[in-house]
Amino acid sequence: MTDYDPRTATGIPTEPVGSLPRPSWLQQAYARYDAGEITREELEAEQDKAVRDSIEHLEATGAPIISDGEQRWSSFATYAITDTLAGTGLADHLAGTGGQYFAIFADGHKRQLPRLTGGPFRYQTYAADTLAKSITMAHKPMKQAVIAPSMLALLYPLDEEVPGYSQEQFEADLVNECEKDIRQAFAAGAARVSVDFTEGRLATRNDPRNPWTGRNMLPHFIELNNRVMDRFTAEERSRIGLHTCPGGDRDSVHSADVPYSDLLPSMFGINAGYFLIQLASERDKDPVYQLIGENLRGDANGVTQMAYVGVINPLNPRVESPEEVRDALIRAANFIPKEQLGSTDDCGFSPFSIDEKPSHGSPDFARQTAWQKITNRVEGTRLAAEKLGVG
Ligand SMILES: [Zn+2]
Repeated sequence: MTDYDPRTATGIPTEPVGSLPRPSWLQQAYARYDAGEITREELEAEQDKAVRDSIEHLEATGAPIISDGEQRWSSFATYAITDTLAGTGLADHLAGTGGQYFAIFADGHKRQLPRLTGGPFRYQTYAADTLAKSITMAHKPMKQAVIAPSMLALLYPLDEEVPGYSQEQFEADLVNECEKDIRQAFAAGAARVSVDFTEGRLATRNDPRNPWTGRNMLPHFIELNNRVMDRFTAEERSRIGLHTCPGGDRDSVHSADVPYSDLLPSMFGINAGYFLIQLASERDKDPVYQLIGENLRGDANGVTQMAYVGVINPLNPRVESPEEVRDALIRAANFIPKEQLGSTDDCGFSPFSIDEKPSHGSPDFARQTAWQKITNRVEGTRLAAEKLGVG
């Protein structure tokens, strides 16, 4: 546990989601590892180099809390179960083919999960395993993102029973693993831990190409997340967040057309202490600010919830100015109590390890853009806090 106070540097708290684009040379190293041309140790040396570069640049933005950019992860959703997106180093009891699509994106590309073939389900890599390596390179407090139990619940086949391993047994194991993932991240030194819940908004989409999205799974997703939250005290949950977004991969989204009113009223029923909410890329922001103000809870089993609204769009290369960030937060404060307001990026800058960042032209240019965007998020947040008299 650390003594990080999110108001010290900027008055209004500000925090990233987690990921950064992997440099093109690191993406090539992943491909060479998949092809058997380099060893795992050689891949890790490249990951070390990318983390060091990410931390140096993030610290230079003035951000009070940083991540390692998830440079060591196959993706935000699969770090626990596979070394690479191609399936190298897949965990036990999983098959690389025949799994569900986690999402089908607006540009037509798909991301698929492995399929569970037996039990017991165990993580192969905990977030703390990679954080422990990265934190030695950092001079500022670090946050850690972890995957939600509701995402990994999709590993279980939608309509079949896994022989000898019921869905109930699997979900009991899954909740235990998620709890362990969060506890170990705190033990490794994370100041805050946020749970990635991108599948929440997708859960009411009812996309016939992706059957699980038509099964009304949102209430079950909320319940699974609360089974994990309920393992933590109110004080611990004040440092545990939850992230919602319409996806952010290859500069495309999977559920921006799903109205937030389908999700937000039930999402705040999750007993997390704070929420990282995509908002900068929403066309009509006031109704979303209003929904947040109406549903954010002053007492979620002993913790006052905070809403960190998105002020930066990582999918768009245009850099938001500090004044834009300031004005967005001041507008949001008309609907959300200013003591419960924070700022964030709409999403990670690149949740999957292999991502060309097509709207940016290259992942390397997208990294440069990210440093500037984060610098302006921090500065704009400080300006808003001054204007609103917070902190
Ligand atoms: Zn996201």
